[in-house]
Order: sequence, then structure tokens, then C-alpha cells
Amino acid sequence: MATQETKSLTLSEQDRSTQESGDVVIQVDDVHKFYQLGETKVHALRGVSTQIRRGEFVAIMGASGSGKSTFMNIVGCLDKPSSGHYLLEGADVSQLDKKKLAGIRNRRIGFVFQGFNLLARTTALENTELPTLYARIDKAERHRRAVDALKMVGLAERMDHFPSQLSGGQQQRVAIARALVNGPSILLADEPTGNLDSRTSVEVMEIFQSLNDKGLTIVLVTHEHDIAQFARRSLVFRDGKIRRDEPVQKRASAAEVLKTLPVLEE
Ligand code: ADP
Ligand code: MG
Repeated sequence: MATQETKSLTLSEQDRSTQESGDVVIQVDDVHKFYQLGETKVHALRGVSTQIRRGEFVAIMGASGSGKSTFMNIVGCLDKPSSGHYLLEGADVSQLDKKKLAGIRNRRIGFVFQGFNLLARTTALENTELPTLYARIDKAERHRRAVDALKMVGLAERMDHFPSQLSGGQQQRVAIARALVNGPSILLADEPTGNLDSRTSVEVMEIFQSLNDKGLTIVLVTHEHDIAQFARRSLVFRDGKIRRDEPVQKRASAAEVLKTLPVLEE
């Protein structure tokens, strides 16, 4: 009995220190976003505040139209808040001009989208290398970084393939490699498994979990509860506000789930 009490006390202390340790990567303070749609003004975010620390893996959930993509666009420096503040690694980026935002985006943020967005006539390696073209590094170094990124997603042996020669899951892995190639502070993924079958979705989540285990901060939008179960924390949006913010209970291991799923022939 006494032992049990000690144990649970230790655990909760550990939990608290993980919560409190680690620096804040994303800090959003009372952010509002309006879109002007002809005559009507759409209030897409209505006072969103949250913090995300280094090493977190956050799933963003909520019905269609609840503001998830708007939030991700702001966090990813693709768009600016109408009011409120966004601090990325401690620096207020809410009012930077487009050019400065683009620079920050390229160096610090990796994006993965539902539709892969690969260039069709370009190999996996060249697709992965693309974001390095803006960095001032030589060709050999660019090549080395792209190969490393493809290795991280288990695709090094397919680097000379074109997107049409790859399965959907492999294409998404190329997109993840491309997102990682500049060594970003955060990986943002908006419905990355939306176009994939269930087994392939879990394979992609296995990659995300292994990257997160190595310390990468990940924010992922999904409407699938099963996919959110692979994250460590979930934020639920409703009507432009965060309605729930809680740790994922009974977090699933993608590697374990994969053992239970049949392998389909490609
Ligand atoms: P979600 O990703 O959760 O489906 P969004 O962030 O895309 O939600 O949209 C939130 C609200 O803002 C919706 O009402 C949507 O119609 C509106 N909205 C999103 N983008 C634009 C835009 N570019 N112009 C006008 N309204 C928009
Ligand atoms: Mg969306």
C-alpha cells in the first residue's frame, strides 16, 4: 500500500517535470483570425492561446471548419494572426513581412500535407533536396543531407525513383524526408494520412513516432481518432477555439499496431 503510494507520487512528479522542462517552441497568445469573404467577415480563430514545448507530439482535432488549418497556417508562418501574438522559439513572428516569414519557414518548419505535393518529373532525391536550394550550402552537402533524410524515412534505396514509381505511402515518406532536410524545429502535418489506406497510415505514424522519440516536435492535424492516439497530447478545436487540451490516454505504438495488421500486396 505504502509502496504503491510512493510509486504513484513519483510518477506524477515525473509527469509534471516533463511538462515543465523543455523549452517552449510554440507560444500562441489570444490569436484571432478574420477572413474577408466578399461582404462577410469569417471569424476563423476566436482567441486561441496555447504553448507547445520541444519534443511534444500534438494531435489537433475538430470538425471541418473549426479552425485547424487556419491555426496550422499561422503556426507554420504561412499566414499571420489578425490580432494576438505568436512566438516561435521565443521570437515574436506575428507581424513579420512575407519575406522574413518565408525565411523562417524554410529554416525552421517542415510541412507535410495530405496530397504529398511532390514534383512529378523529379526523383525522390531531388524532391528531398529542394528546400536545401535556399540554404547556402554546396551541392555535395545538399546531396548528403537529402540522402540522410531519405534514410530516416527508410527510403534510401528508392532515391532515384520518380513519384509515379512509388506507392502513396512511399510518396508521403519522400514528403516527410523533404520536410526534414533542413533540420527544422517543428514538423507540421495537416491530415498526412488523409489519402492513405489504414496500414500505410500506421506506417507513416510509425515514422512520426520514431522522429518524435528522437526529440522532434510534431503537430499533426487529423480527424481520425485512431491516428490521434499515436500522439502524446490532443487539442480539440470547435468554432475557432480550443475546447479540449489533454494528454493522450493509452497512447498507441504504431510499431506494435503494425504487427497486428495484414500486409497488402502492392
Ligand atoms: P478546418 O481546417 O478545421 O476545416 P479552417 O481553418 O480551414 O478549418 O477554416 C475555419 C473557418 O474559416 C471556416 O469557416 C472556413 O470556411 C473559413 N476559411 C478558411 N480559410 C478561408 C479563406 N482563405 N477565406 C475565407 N474563409 C476561410
Ligand atoms: Mg483543414
